[in-house]
Amino acid sequence: MKKIIVTIDGWSSCGKSTIAKQMAKALGYVYIDSGAMYRAITLYFLRHHIDWTTEPEIIEALDKIHLSFRHNDHSGQSEIYLNGENVEYLIRELVVAEKVSEVAAVATVRKFAVEQQQKMGIEKGIVMDGRDIGTTVFPEAELKLFMTADIETRVVRRFIEMHAKNPNVTKEEVRANLQMRDHIDSNREVSPLRMAEDAVLLDNTNLTMEDQLDLSLKLVAKKL
Ligand code: C5P
Repeated sequence: MKKIIVTIDGWSSCGKSTIAKQMAKALGYVYIDSGAMYRAITLYFLRHHIDWTTEPEIIEALDKIHLSFRHNDHSGQSEIYLNGENVEYLIRELVVAEKVSEVAAVATVRKFAVEQQQKMGIEKGIVMDGRDIGTTVFPEAELKLFMTADIETRVVRRFIEMHAKNPNVTKEEVRANLQMRDHIDSNREVSPLRMAEDAVLLDNTNLTMEDQLDLSLKLVAKKL
């Protein structure tokens, strides 16, 4: 059976990972959360007080970072490990979210992550979400989706998610973080967030999960 690469890019908190996970499950594909890689690198930099404006420091630090994804049989999800430690939940905290876009704008960091992402796609049968997957990581991908939703919808979705884990988080903090990340991600020099020319735009402001999945799987079927 033919296998393809599906890329899902878009703004922060558009529900990219939710749809990506469901598509991967429905297709029997591997789901890769590329944002988790940038978040785990950021967590390492913060823990070790790495100055990410200094190239030699970045190079030395990246050399000590090993990232891997492992399937959690209990949750049924793939989770990220940083040097053997499960950091799937730690990387979602606001302290990491506040710095990740700065770290992800560094060319050396992107090269480190992109090389690993490209290796993960060698055998196809993969759904990867992020910001530059359709433009830089897999420019030849068979199906590219670009997701968007209005800012209020995105803020509410992310606030509910973060508030459940940390009741001190405010909606204003969440809004400021999304806007800051969108700004840095779309204005950086290396691989800025862009919709690939051959991507399909999916605005999910008023779509249910079922609608989105149905639509996306129909697009996959056309490519098979
Ligand atoms: O997808 P998520 O919101 O977890 O990504 C966190 C951050 O990682 C983004 O705001 C962006 O700065 C960075 N990122 C990136 N390129 C990707 C995926 C994520 O620059 N492919």
